[in-house]
Order: sequence, then structure tokens, then C-alpha cells
Amino acid sequence: MTVDFKKYIASVQDFPNKGIVFRDITPILSDGEIFRAATHELAEYAKKRGADVIVGPEARGFIVGCPVATELGVGFVPARKPHKLPREVERASYDLEYGSNSLEMHKDAIKPGQKVVICDDLMATAGTLHAAIELIERLGGEVVGAAFYVELPDLKGREKLPNVDIFSLVQYH
Ligand code: IMP
Repeated sequence: MTVDFKKYIASVQDFPNKGIVFRDITPILSDGEIFRAATHELAEYAKKRGADVIVGPEARGFIVGCPVATELGVGFVPARKPHKLPREVERASYDLEYGSNSLEMHKDAIKPGQKVVICDDLMATAGTLHAAIELIERLGGEVVGAAFYVELPDLKGREKLPNVDIFSLVQYH
């Protein structure tokens, strides 16, 4: 099935702040056939890249990544906001326009040498992706790709991570 995914992404002006156009992917999720098609595209990509495990950053990365993992029959590992995971963690911080954010993963979540594909709804500056990669590599994993529903190429995320293979369903300039 060839799908025009842009038909299922709502563009919301001035959210969460004035001047920002928020790309809302929830219409993809609420249509079973379209959600399955989007999941399938990301799963085919992750399979081609040889993924042993999928990592998804909190929170929309859970929604996007979990069904990809189950379609492939591989594990899913959450990269969570601080102080949510109960056991020993690794933490990586990244800068936002104002302030910073952190992601954490359980220290034993990735086995050394495992091939990882990171899934999330949207790549903007790639700060989130950068932090997820740092964590996975510290745990001994190999990031073989990253897959998104949406990419904002004008923010030049790919330039920040020239060695990472990146796949996206739709792009907004
Ligand atoms: P980055 O770290 O700058 O690449 O921003 C990507 C992160 O911010 C992802 O986890 C997204 O869920 C979230 N994000 C940023 N902009 C949007 C948007 O327009 N729609 C949905 N999520 C967004």
C-alpha cells in the first residue's frame, strides 16, 4: 500500500510557542490501517539495517518504536526521562534552545555488539537522537540506523550526525 502520510499529519501553528509549526502525528496513530502502514515502513527499514533491538526515546518514541519491534520479533528498549527507571542507569544530556534535557537507559539494556535502530516520531535538530546514540554506544551497542515518521531537514540534523543512516517517511521544509 502506497500511503501519502502527509495527509495524516496535522500542522498546528504557534504550538507550543509562537512561531513554531508543530507536526502532530496522532492522526496516523488513530487510523489502524495507516498506523500499520507506517509501522511496516519503519520495520522494513530496520530489518534491512539488520536491527537486533529497537530503542525509542520517551514518549512518542515508545509509540512509534514498540510496534516496529513486535513486527520484527526483536526487543524494545526505552530511553527515558530522568528518574523513571528503577535500576542502574547511564545518562546523557543534550541542549535545547532554552535549558537542557536528559535521557537514561538501564545499564544492562543493550548487550555488547547488538545492532540498534532508534525510532521516534520526529527529528528536528537531532539533539534527542544524539543523546540516544551516546547512551547506546556507552552500553556497547552499535547504532545501525534511525527511523522517523517526520524529518525537518532545514534544521540540519543529518549534518550533526554524518555517520548515522537516517530514514524518514515525510519531510517538511
Ligand atoms: P530534536 O531533538 O531537536 O531532533 O527534536 C526531536 C524531539 O522533539 C522528538 O522527540 C520529538 O518528539 C519532539 N518534537 C520536536 N518538534 C516536534 C513537532 O513538531 N512535532 C512532534 N514532536 C516534536
